[in-house]
Amino acid sequence: MADYLISGGTCYIPDDGLTAQQLFGAGDGLTYNDFLILPGYIDFTADQVDLTSALTKKITLKTPMVSSPMDTVTEANMAIAMALTGGIGVIHHNCTPEFQANEVRKVKKYEQGFITDPVVLSPKHCVRHVFEAKARHGFCGIPITENGKMGSKLAGIISSRDIDFLKAEDHDLALSEIMTRREDLVVAPAGVTLKEANEILQRSKKGKLPIVNGDDELVAIIARTDLKKNRDYPLASKDAKKQLLCGAATGTHEDDKYRLDLLVQAGVDAVVLDSSQGNSIFQINMIKYIKEKYPDLQVIAGNVVTAAQAKNLIDAGADALRVGMGSGSICITQEAAPQIPPDLKSHSPKCPSIVTGTYMLACGRPQATAVYKVSEYARRFGVPVIADGGIQTVGHIAKALALGASTVMMGSLLAATTEAPGEYFFSDGIRLKKYRGMGSLDAMDKNVSSQKRYFSEADKIKVAQGVSGAVQDKGSIHKFIPYLIAGIQHSCQDIGAKSLTQVRAMMYSGELKFEKRTMSAQVEGGVHGLHSYEKRLF
Ligand code: IMP
Repeated sequence: MADYLISGGTCYIPDDGLTAQQLFGAGDGLTYNDFLILPGYIDFTADQVDLTSALTKKITLKTPMVSSPMDTVTEANMAIAMALTGGIGVIHHNCTPEFQANEVRKVKKYEQGFITDPVVLSPKHCVRHVFEAKARHGFCGIPITENGKMGSKLAGIISSRDIDFLKAEDHDLALSEIMTRREDLVVAPAGVTLKEANEILQRSKKGKLPIVNGDDELVAIIARTDLKKNRDYPLASKDAKKQLLCGAATGTHEDDKYRLDLLVQAGVDAVVLDSSQGNSIFQINMIKYIKEKYPDLQVIAGNVVTAAQAKNLIDAGADALRVGMGSGSICITQEAAPQIPPDLKSHSPKCPSIVTGTYMLACGRPQATAVYKVSEYARRFGVPVIADGGIQTVGHIAKALALGASTVMMGSLLAATTEAPGEYFFSDGIRLKKYRGMGSLDAMDKNVSSQKRYFSEADKIKVAQGVSGAVQDKGSIHKFIPYLIAGIQHSCQDIGAKSLTQVRAMMYSGELKFEKRTMSAQVEGGVHGLHSYEKRLF
């Protein structure tokens, strides 16, 4: 029985709901949909809720969200947007070490408002190249350097005014003949602050302002069209040098040590050892190797779903654990369904997903149970847990955090945003982007890296553990993440906790109460009884 003070008197009301320990003590594996959190008492507004959380032993984020190292989710654009909005992106490794290190470098070099990798042409390029760039990127204010690359001497600039009235027969004209020449350009010196550069740009009345170093080499540009977008990001995740934080994934093979060196040279803050079953001698050896060679580099190990798996990685020196096996939206690792005929291609009417896997490997754990069990163990060693996979809604994020995870890692929820790699395409009138599992045959055909996560190199027959599909356009991360942040804050408010730290403390003390959801409770919790409705989330 619990004591509650009502109008000056004491009244006994019965205990209600289950503690986390009771919820997960029964032994059956639960998913996020199998339970709810019972609400508490509110005496603050949702925007007061502090979402600060540890990513690793040494890295803290203001927003507990991480984008997954998948080649349809995280490259530099996604990692920059995630860091600006308070989380972090983990660059995938289904690419060469050089490409991956360069993506990390783009994030670390990113300066709000400064474009450091613009389209650049040389004086020898033709007018037709400008039109091509305009068709592809939608703009034609293009800086011209001697060799057509960044870091080379600035030769001029081409703007729409230079090409608007040209005729078709002029398309082979060299840009040297029509560009505005260097001597007529307003430029700003490298090191200029964004505020100063914006002022120069406004005074110059031009569309673009080139930034040059002491040798007159182009190092960045700023664009008038971006002026309004150059807002503040008070939650941004930054290192001591004020550079955005960036993570990157790697494997545990001998040649991954070369990849690791390049990532460290590019300034990576945390490496994720990317394995679907992380409790292996390979991963333990790699953790020890990294801790010896780069003691300051944060190592995120995994994936694990049991305390026994976690123990080995924590003992080896892991700075955080990635938890989840078989819960990802594209995952067929634990599926126990009858085998799908090898030639089956299944198409949903709206989404052109193709089932690429035909074998299921039986191992894994329902995600809510995995997160609770591993977090409960890892917290004794101060090792934060990243709940990875299976996040479909903001409610799932809140539940993962309430079960002890410090952050959540998302693939499908962030896929098909503007910042995710890949082009949009239309199917049945719906705007989509590709999203695929890194263990899908589709991804494994691209590069050996993703194969390493799911197979040993000696495996002769590929066993797919993921599918390849598509996800509907979600717009920009800059709108989507604030929606998720507000949603998590509202969940904490309903719980009656002013911070995520408090949510976890309430959970471990038994104050936070849960309840199992029957199938009919799940139906009741969804929209029902309507002839039709529109679902707009933000
Ligand atoms: P989602 O957020 O539910 O889409 O899950 C994303 C997570 O699924 C990733 O962070 C990985 O842990 C996991 N994952 C990625 N590719 C595969 C795959 O091919 N098979 C199984 N799991 C995968």
